[in-house]
Amino acid sequence: MRVGVLALQGDFEAHMKALKRVGAEPVEVRTAAELDTVRGLIIPGGESTTMLKLMGYYELFEPLRAFGGQRPVFGTCAGAILIASEVLNPSQASLNLVDLTVERNGYGRQLDSRVVSVTQYGLGGDPEVEVVLIRAPIVRRTGGQVLASYLDSPILVDYGRHMAATFHPELTDDTRVHKLFLSKVN
Ligand code: GLN
Repeated sequence: MRVGVLALQGDFEAHMKALKRVGAEPVEVRTAAELDTVRGLIIPGGESTTMLKLMGYYELFEPLRAFGGQRPVFGTCAGAILIASEVLNPSQASLNLVDLTVERNGYGRQLDSRVVSVTQYGLGGDPEVEVVLIRAPIVRRTGGQVLASYLDSPILVDYGRHMAATFHPELTDDTRVHKLFLSKVN
């Protein structure tokens, strides 16, 4: 199964490897033509402002919106910011694919970047996992189904077709999140 990873900037290579680990065929996506060849898309972590500029440069904004109207998109960290309906701190454009308000760098200095233990991971199997947060956005509001939270804020949200995570599932060897996304693409 061909699953795209938006490869404009950020840690797309780690998602390519994570997709291979769950048996998918990952494809780097940089153009609208490449987007047309995949059945689902991951937008990785990185710097959302930079990715937004590159989306403009490569004329991908509208194709990505159209793709999300038909096929599953999974946004992680900066990717979650890009698929959100509302971005705060500061406000910026987004693809508006999911009902989600995020505040960029919302955990502040105390929690700049770290590995934290989450004890309620609603994905079946071991409910306690370590997750990686890197200058993560904080979820201020969501209309989706919350699958995991940290410090009372959602970190993994399921929207049926789409998914958003404020952490980096591609950086640990827990494959459950990528498997869940694959089941949506299928
Ligand atoms: N702080 C970044 C942003 O606002 C997101 C960080 C990440 O993706 N790890 O775009």
